[in-house]
Amino acid sequence: MIGAGAFGFSVAYQLVRLGAGSVVLLDQYEPGTQVSPKAAGLFKMIQASATKTRLALLSRQIVTTFAQETGVPIPHEAVGSLFIARTPAHAGMVDAEVEDSVGWGVEIERVDAREASRLCGYLDPEGIVSVHHVPGDLYIEEPRSMLIAYWQAGEALGLRVIGHTPVTGISVEAGEVWAVQTAAGTIETPVVVDAAGVWSRMIGAMAGVEVPVVPMRHQLRITSPIEGVTADMPIVRITDASGYARPARNGLMFGGFESNPLAYPSQLPAGFTTDMISFDPTLNDQFAEVLKPSIPALREHTSQEERGGLFTMTADGKLMAGPVGAVRGFWVTTGCNGSGFSLSSAIGRCVAEWIVGGEPPFDLSLLAPDRFASQGLTPELLHEKAVWQYANYYTPSA
Ligand SMILES: Cc1cc2nc3c(=O)[nH]c(=O)nc-3n(C[C@H](O)[C@H](O)[C@H](O)COP(=O)(O)OP(=O)(O)OC[C@H]3O[C@@H](n4cnc5c(N)ncnc54)[C@H](O)[C@@H]3O)c2cc1C
Repeated sequence: MIGAGAFGFSVAYQLVRLGAGSVVLLDQYEPGTQVSPKAAGLFKMIQASATKTRLALLSRQIVTTFAQETGVPIPHEAVGSLFIARTPAHAGMVDAEVEDSVGWGVEIERVDAREASRLCGYLDPEGIVSVHHVPGDLYIEEPRSMLIAYWQAGEALGLRVIGHTPVTGISVEAGEVWAVQTAAGTIETPVVVDAAGVWSRMIGAMAGVEVPVVPMRHQLRITSPIEGVTADMPIVRITDASGYARPARNGLMFGGFESNPLAYPSQLPAGFTTDMISFDPTLNDQFAEVLKPSIPALREHTSQEERGGLFTMTADGKLMAGPVGAVRGFWVTTGCNGSGFSLSSAIGRCVAEWIVGGEPPFDLSLLAPDRFASQGLTPELLHEKAVWQYANYYTPSA
């Protein structure tokens, strides 16, 4: 396993759980310190495709029963969410997406604006055209806690997690993986999983595999404590604002999807860490501006933390998970597209079962890492499509 983030920990834990032999999870830095701990920690069941919805429901099940299964809790707040539109056009899109999601097994209830405001004390009902309540949505207050839980549960079953050990090469012979080179020596292995997040393209290149992803900045703000806001209040998503909010550290966390996001080069410089990303506080101010008619507490607020990281975007907004046809033994789990933290639990379960049993538990062809091979994705086209996917995160699509 290359990359000790949400994907790497999840796949590695599930592999040792299945008794898949000797499993080593490598990271170039301290494990669990790059993009994953910077996430907002939101789990959303509305996912715009049958496959991703199934993964979202499975992730929820894994996280909420993890303590039962392993004795190690993943602390989470099962507060539900409100999916909101404040324009008739957005209401139409939201309603259509809700209808699809209900068809795929998500529990969703239409509520009126007053009821929404009763469910969520920090929400003003004024101006809301359509709102749906999704009781199954949840959040994890401090995202790193999920990685630590996987780490502890995995180590108890024999997982070896090795930090500060960059992978420097992958040996492929006759179309088959056989070893991984690291700064500390070579590990012979018939299976390598590229879970290196925004570095996954660079890891793929070591094996001669194209992993077409684009790192893209996403940032959020946690306000100072706000009177009356409590951890048990729901998550709010306001589609026409392309923004979201949830309770955090006695205040509110909020963020959004700007229409002109900042892409980073897929060849990241040596020594790059997510702490080197420069943030733009005016962007958070702009999201506060569009959210505050519905979240009055944002009118006057101070910031407790400005944080962010890089999404790993793909050309079609969907994850990459599965084996790579051209190199036997090389697997990819990346392309978070902003939902990787939450979907990683299900991806780990499915990919580990696939590695061990030879078949995925259900059809994951939608996420095949090879699916872009025949699409003639030039770097410019990939960039253009990845930006579109980011900018339209809350534009529901079929
Ligand atoms: C601000 C923000 C908010 C977000 N909010 C949410 C949310 O609410 N819900 C959600 O589902 N998702 C969210 N996401 C997305 C989510 O954080 C990511 O999808 C997920 O964390 C990606 O996990 P990862 O394992 O791919 O990446 P990482 O956590 O970055 O892990 C990859 C690891 O690979 C290691 N690595 C790279 N190269 C090498 C090498 N050569 N050798 C060894 N190790 C290497 C890195 O050091 C790193 O630790 C958010 C993202 C951001 C930035």
